[in-house]
Amino acid sequence: MARTAVVRGRGILAAALVGTVLGAVGVLMPVPARGAEREPTASQVEGPYYKPNSPLRTSLLEKGMPGTRLVLKGRVLSSDGSPIQGARLDFWQADANGAYDNDGYRLRGHQFTDEQGRYSLETVVPGNYAGRTSHIHVKAQGPGQPILTTQLFFPDDPRNRADWLYKPGLLLQVQDTASGKEAAFDFVLKLR
Ligand code: FE
Repeated sequence: MARTAVVRGRGILAAALVGTVLGAVGVLMPVPARGAEREPTASQVEGPYYKPNSPLRTSLLEKGMPGTRLVLKGRVLSSDGSPIQGARLDFWQADANGAYDNDGYRLRGHQFTDEQGRYSLETVVPGNYAGRTSHIHVKAQGPGQPILTTQLFFPDDPRNRADWLYKPGLLLQVQDTASGKEAAFDFVLKLR
């Protein structure tokens, strides 16, 4: 009798723990229903201005840098929706006047996602140049995984339509803030 009560008690405790864990996961990491694969983020060409060995930094802002302040945030996920920790994101972009720094590393930097796959970048809204609409270049790579090279675009830029590299799937979600703009983008990487 006592033995049965103990076993039953453990069962109730286990059920309570499972419920808590599932509840926390449901709140913190909403994932699509099982089998609902996310579409991997589309690739886009590297272009002529990539430089390897960018500095490790989450802010590309420098004193006196012109342009609208932009905070870009999001996560790096696998196609089943799980976060990828330690993913490397290497950003490079033109300045507000549409110019790249090809001598140094201005507006270039890389960072790694945290345990929830999150990243955050402080920068300025890039200007357009030579027929290109505004865009931010990025190379995204999960640990031990292939590199995804792509570009991110800004909604409501009238030059998007005329830019043959523009892809609607690479649009940032952008909001105006008191200090500039805030943008969101989640990368989905197809793991091998
Ligand atoms: Fe470019």
